[in-house]
Amino acid sequence: MLRITICVLLVIIYFILLDKAFLNFSPNNSYALSSLAPRNKEEFANQLILRTLDKYKIEVPSRCNIPTYSGVGTNRAITTAYGYTEIRSVEVYDLAFISSGVLASTLAHELEVHCKQSMFEYIFLKTLYGDKIASAYLEIPAYSLEVQRIGRYNNIEQLDGLEALKYEYLTTWSNR
Ligand SMILES: [Zn+2]
Repeated sequence: MLRITICVLLVIIYFILLDKAFLNFSPNNSYALSSLAPRNKEEFANQLILRTLDKYKIEVPSRCNIPTYSGVGTNRAITTAYGYTEIRSVEVYDLAFISSGVLASTLAHELEVHCKQSMFEYIFLKTLYGDKIASAYLEIPAYSLEVQRIGRYNNIEQLDGLEALKYEYLTTWSNR
């Protein structure tokens, strides 16, 4: 009888230890997961933007905010400049998220070109030739950069479309 009691006690102690070990392990793990897991689509998209900037070493210029996800839009992204001195903001839409290459290329287009362009130059050209031609002037270097970086961003499937847009803006500009 004593043997059986000892055996039962040992089994109970074993399960208590096993349970404790499992409990100790489990909360750490679920904490790590919940701190990484995005709560919604917007948070997920913003995390993806940050990881893409880091992975492809795309720098955010000092005069520009960190790009943020902005939902449904007719473009991939848009850079907004209010006046000459204010910080510019970049809104990124659903169309930029079709692949990591498209997202990287879009972020470089906005941050490395549009965020650094001169408002004086744009307003001067707009006064001389109108908005369409002034905008074409701003888009030429942005699409040229995307075409040039096609390999770096593994974005080859977008090459024809980007080349076509670059050509369209070059034609608009040269026919001014
Ligand atoms: Zn652009």
